[in-house]
Amino acid sequence: MTLLDTDPDAGLSPLEFTVTPNPAAKPDEVREEILANPGFGINFTDHMVELTWTVQGGWHSPTVTPYGPIALDPAAAVLHYGQEVFEGIKAYRHADGSIHTFRPDQNGRRLQRSARRLALPELPVAYFTQSLRELIAVDAAWVPSGEDQSLYLRPFMFAKEAFLGVRPAHKVGYYVIASPAGAYFHGGVNPVTIWLSEHYARAGEGGTGAAKTGGNYAASLLPQSEAYENECDQVVFLDKNRNVEELGGMNVVFVYKDGTIVTPQSESILEGITRDSLLQLAADRGHHIEGRSVSLDEWRSGVASGDIVEVFACGTAAVVTPIGVLKGRDFIDEQPTGELALSLRQELTDIQYGRIEDRHNWLVRLDG
Ligand SMILES: *Cc1c(COP(=O)(O)O)cnc(C)c1O
Repeated sequence: MTLLDTDPDAGLSPLEFTVTPNPAAKPDEVREEILANPGFGINFTDHMVELTWTVQGGWHSPTVTPYGPIALDPAAAVLHYGQEVFEGIKAYRHADGSIHTFRPDQNGRRLQRSARRLALPELPVAYFTQSLRELIAVDAAWVPSGEDQSLYLRPFMFAKEAFLGVRPAHKVGYYVIASPAGAYFHGGVNPVTIWLSEHYARAGEGGTGAAKTGGNYAASLLPQSEAYENECDQVVFLDKNRNVEELGGMNVVFVYKDGTIVTPQSESILEGITRDSLLQLAADRGHHIEGRSVSLDEWRSGVASGDIVEVFACGTAAVVTPIGVLKGRDFIDEQPTGELALSLRQELTDIQYGRIEDRHNWLVRLDG
């Protein structure tokens, strides 16, 4: 074994959670009614996970408590300086009733990278995965079983210290909440219309673009409103060299006529786990994959010449969304649509829901 193979969590014993069941847990029939039509991010399960970190004590006080408000001192640093990171990952119910999640080690590692950039403490990946298990242990009944339904898990971490001085907080909370999610698309996957944000950027060189942090989303809200005003569903951002970055919360992928698949890569793009998985599945099918800069000119001229044959966006929530139109201040480019995006989406969701073999060992069982 080389040093690089050493598991940094080796020797770490599992946390001992204190579990307080929710005395006001929703009755079965109320929960079933919610699960019949869950929407997205509207309803929450009966419990949540909480861990505290302090400079003195490290990670401690792991609890599962009734879902409810978090008491914060008005001087809590997150409310003033935005020191916060989060993750998004789903739990899937298989036909045999078992509950699985997808590549949690990747989300755990990304949470560590995000935390590092935001000067927050790094949660060991083993604790991250355990925190998902602990929540499922009490809220398993909230994992829906309908087609394309899942339980969306939202781990997050923020600065809780009551202190208005500007420096990394000495007290931090880590939480996991969960929200049942319905099929993202009803009646088939519809291509989206994308607004090209030319005035606003979401991230800058050396900034926090690669971290999953609330501030990036805050920066995307005004351009997102501009998209709505222009009758578009989503925004795509460029960097200062007019290279394509990503949407507000999804990565972008281009499919070329010769089968090559290209995705923008830069230090200010968030590295999606959905994208990585779809590209792995495409590579398995023999596609050549490239991560590199893609200029707006390459995109527009590639579509015009027929060199680019499909463009899609991807992320955990919607999985894959074909891009049907790119709209800018002075142009509307219809995008070509093909079969690959939806075929990769099908293969990925078939793995996630246990309908086909998980040949990359991406699934991790959360119950039992
Ligand atoms: C979460 C996120 C994505 C998608 O990442 P997945 O791991 O695929 O869900 C893409 N871009 C941004 C900005 C994100 O926050």
